[in-house]
Amino acid sequence: MNAATDSRDRPLHDLRISVTDRCNFRCPYCMPVEIFGEHYEFMKRPDLLTFEEIERLARLFVELGVEKIRITGGEPLLRHQLPKLIERLALLEGLRDLTLTTNGFLLEKHAQDLRDAGLQRITVSLDSHDEAVFQQMNGRKFEMAPVLAGIRAAEAVGLTPIKLNCVVQRGVNEGSILGLAKMWKGSAHIVRFIEFMDVGTLNHWELGRVVTSREVVERIDAEFPLEPVGPSYRGEVASRWRYKDGSGEIGVISSVSQPFCGSCTRARLTLDGSLVTCLFATGGIDLRGPMRDGASDSELREQIAGVWKVRADRYSEERSANTDLDGHVKPRAKIEMYHIGG
Ligand code: SAM
Ligand code: SF4
Ligand code: SF4
Repeated sequence: MNAATDSRDRPLHDLRISVTDRCNFRCPYCMPVEIFGEHYEFMKRPDLLTFEEIERLARLFVELGVEKIRITGGEPLLRHQLPKLIERLALLEGLRDLTLTTNGFLLEKHAQDLRDAGLQRITVSLDSHDEAVFQQMNGRKFEMAPVLAGIRAAEAVGLTPIKLNCVVQRGVNEGSILGLAKMWKGSAHIVRFIEFMDVGTLNHWELGRVVTSREVVERIDAEFPLEPVGPSYRGEVASRWRYKDGSGEIGVISSVSQPFCGSCTRARLTLDGSLVTCLFATGGIDLRGPMRDGASDSELREQIAGVWKVRADRYSEERSANTDLDGHVKPRAKIEMYHIGG
């Protein structure tokens, strides 16, 4: 079957699968503790896709052209027996890349099992090199040491190259840009600085809190000279820069200042089986219902292909038009990040 292509000629190439809405962290930009407190009701188990259901849908996506799957959440390592899902996905014929994004807190314990199950690489979120800032940003005052141990464990079992994601917010962790660069310079790990996005409706986003990729590169370059590297594949979201002294590279993801909707080939599957075609979508298309009602593989495949065919999403390109002079974006309904993963 030919790869599905959307209304703007973008092929269906990547799939992000969220496996849980739970998280051990409470990063204020994603799951602020005031909202996700003790009494917050997470999704009930029967509503979550089972591993069999995830595998079945993933296979159909691969048949429609997906070559890369990323497991995310919430915190994916909280999903019970996750390596068993990885094992199933790793066997999908046609899948070239299987990876996972985690906050790393439980990674030390799971790295070997994930690797043995067939996970190829891993991305760990790390918003600061500074203990106090790190603890403030995870919303729970958790220490950094377990995350660093997790990164070391992932390296030891070969879940490499490791990418380290840092969401940069003005006035919160912009002071960590150089520190993080310095911390990983000389290693094979790649720190990727991500512009703070207006995902969901809970994180009080405004343009003034975004530190642009350009500024990130300027700040690092002033201390450690950088030069650009070309993309490693079409549609790569991070712009790559390497240290002129040959001691490694960094990436910057300019989701706000230089949107890349034109080459966005990414679909998302929520933990309860909705297909979402944009990080900023107002909703998704339910695949779990038809699947549990007995839809055949070809019916489900047609449904997915049909949704992708009419896809016209370009939220980030439209964002600037919807942002006022004070940097506020016109409010609208959006799915929250912990439902669809980053
Ligand atoms: N819990 C895992 C973690 O934190 O790595 C996986 C899920 S998390 C939602 C995926 C990624 O989205 C993380 O790297 C996180 O930093 C990023 N993220 C969350 N909210 C964001 C925002 N408002 N802007 C940019 N990135 C964001
Ligand atoms: Fe949890 Fe990841 Fe969201 Fe932080 S960014 S609250 S670690 S899901
Ligand atoms: Fe893709 Fe939507 Fe992000 Fe644009 S805004 S890059 S279409 S996810």
